[in-house]
Order: sequence, then C-alpha cells, then structure tokens
Amino acid sequence: MLKHAYTVTLIPGDGTGPELTEVVKAVVAATGVPITWEVQEAGADVMDRYGTPLPEGVLESIRRNKVALKGPITTPIGSGFRSVNVALRHELDLYACLRPCKFYPGVKSRYTGIDLVIVRENMEDLYAGVEFPAGSPEARQIMSWAPKKIRPDAAISIKPISRTGSLRIVRFAFEYALRHGRRKVTAICKANIMKFTDGLFFESAREVAKDYAGRVEYEEKLIDNMCMQLVQKPERYDVLVLPNLYGDILSDLCAGLIGGLGIAPGANIGDDIAVFEAVHGSTPKYAGMNRVNPTAMLLSVQLMLDYLGERQAADRLERAIAAVIAENQTVTADLGGTAGTKEMGDAIIRALERHTTSPSF
Ligand code: NAD
Repeated sequence: MLKHAYTVTLIPGDGTGPELTEVVKAVVAATGVPITWEVQEAGADVMDRYGTPLPEGVLESIRRNKVALKGPITTPIGSGFRSVNVALRHELDLYACLRPCKFYPGVKSRYTGIDLVIVRENMEDLYAGVEFPAGSPEARQIMSWAPKKIRPDAAISIKPISRTGSLRIVRFAFEYALRHGRRKVTAICKANIMKFTDGLFFESAREVAKDYAGRVEYEEKLIDNMCMQLVQKPERYDVLVLPNLYGDILSDLCAGLIGGLGIAPGANIGDDIAVFEAVHGSTPKYAGMNRVNPTAMLLSVQLMLDYLGERQAADRLERAIAAVIAENQTVTADLGGTAGTKEMGDAIIRALERHTTSPSF
C-alpha cells in the first residue's frame, strides 16, 4: 500500500535552530514517514529583505500545508520587533498550546514517573496585548470609570476571557484526553478572586465536562493550590487545562519537574492548522556549537507525527528517544553526557533502525 505523503512547512529559526533542524530532517527520514519539507525563513535575519520578521509567504505556506515545524526564533529585546512566535499563534488562530511533560528514565530530575499534559489557552487573558502605559490617556480614562480606586501612576492591562475561547480550549483538552486514553482533566484558574473572568472559565469548563461524563473525569483546582499539589503529588494529575498566563507559568514548572527545557516539546494547534515547536528558545550562547539537546525538538516531531495520524511512527520515535536517554551513552551535556546535538541525533537514528529490525525494541 502506498504511504500517505505530507508536505510540511519547516522554519529552521535562528540561534541553535538550524543545527537542530538538520537533526530533525535526518531523524524524520529514518522514521520512513514521507515528508517533504517546504523551508521558510522567519525572524530577525529576514527583516532586511522583507521588512518584517514574519513574511506573508511563511503564513501562506503554513495555511496551505496546514502543518508546520518551527525551530526557535530570537526576540531581540527593546527593538520594537514583535515576537514571531506570538504573532504566528495569533495570525493562525492556534488557540491551543499543548505541552506534554513526561519523565524519561535516565534523566536526572528530582521527580520520576511524571506524565502530565498541559493544555494552555493561547489567545486571550493578559496575553491579549491590551495594555496601557502609566500616565496614558487610555489608562486615565479607565481610572475615571473603574469601580475601585486605581493609583494615578498605574499602568493597566486588560484580561479578556471569553465563553467561546474557554469552551473551545476545554473541549480540546477533553478530546485530547479521550484520544490518548487519559483518565482526568483538571481545569485550573483563580475563580475565587477573579469571579467574572476566571469564573467564566470554570463555568465553561463545567459545561463541556458534562459531554464527557463517564468517559473522562473532571475536577477544578485553584492555581496557587495547584502549584503546591504539583510539587507534592504530581502523580495525581493527568491533563491540565488553563487560561493563558497560568498555563505559561505552570508549563515551566512542569518542564522543571521532568528535568528541564532540553526535553520539553510543544505544539500550537488551531481548528485545522498546527505548528510544532520545542518549548525552549534559541539558546544563542550555544549557537553553532553542536551542544544543545535535540530531544525537545524531536519530541515535538513525535507530537506532529501523532497529529498527522502516524501513530506507529510517533511511538517508535518516542521509544528510540527514550532508549537513547536510558542508555545514557550518547546524550548531551544537560543530560550529563558529552555528546553533541548531531551525535545524539545519530544515536536516535540508530535506535530507530534497531527497532525496524527487532520487534522486541
Ligand atoms: P532558552 O530556552 O533559549 O535558553 C535558556 C536556557 O535553557 C539555556 O541557556 C540552556 O541552559 C537551557 N536550554 C534551552 N534549550 C536547551 C536545549 N535544547 N538543550 C540544552 N539546554 C537547553 O531561553 P532564553 O535564553 O530565555 O531565550 C533565548 C531567545 O529565544 C530569546 O530571544 C527568546 O525570546 C527566544 N525564545 C524563543 C522561543 C520560541 O521560538 N518558541 C521560546 C522561548 C524563547
């Protein structure tokens, strides 16, 4: 039978992005899934040529192919340069940020056995970018009608949380849970204090949860309590769904639980478009040094293969990565080894090939 062939937009990014991308291409070729990469450039390096870090051609390519894999892109501080990463999510309405946090034996971490999935809302909340500087006419105007006194020298951010946005992110979390055999979804926010915004998030979550009753368990937690719970009893949790800002913070907490950014994958998913990328940034200090861990990018590839319906290839890739980490022979410095990015990628390719010839792998 002919295998389905895919065209995927590939944004190598900058910093350590290009060297990670080389490893990704080689590993994907070794999975046997026929992917044609449509390479697109974005970031500071293309500013001179296109006048924007996110040229329209990149968005067109992603809209056409529906799936993209993205390397990290540097956001220069104080340049007026908009974050390409945030712009992509907004332009393409990639409302769900998916971040699995799984412990792999061999990783040195304070915790073992962690297997959590964070589903973070990507479009609303304090991240919506509705902010007014201290002393601005807009800030003064808000102060004039706000029901509580606000100091005149305050800057103001607005936190929009909609029913539509909340319903769709919670539904995404439940659908993910169902498809991946997960037992429980925990909705998390601070509804005891932010009664209207976070209150609406819980209210919407409860409404969606009813449709999954008897299939996926549902519970609610306050964000502060959840932070403590995750440090003390992370094994009690499964899929976590949160508004944007809490989701951002908890994602890093959970990446810490599993041993750091080198192994934390991610995806930004909308109704029919998905962009896969590691949680980590461009690590500019290691650029071109063949030093960073390719695992986070490769686990993002695993998420992409799963999304494409290539479940077997996704599972094989995950097992190959897990085997290389467990053997602890050819791993990068963050995992306590001396291997380079490329060498670790090559070891994963060898593990994939072993699997093709050995059913017991
Ligand atoms: P970073 O994730 O690039 O690096 C922080 C530290 O984490 C590194 O110094 C390193 O010790 C460790 N680390 C990260 N990735 C690793 C890997 N693969 N292997 C081993 N160790 C790893 O974060 P930063 O230094 O805050 O950001 C650098 C740039 O990246 C900034 O411009 C930032 O805006 C950008 N950024 C981009 C994305 C993205 O493209 N999605 C995400 C986060 C940050």
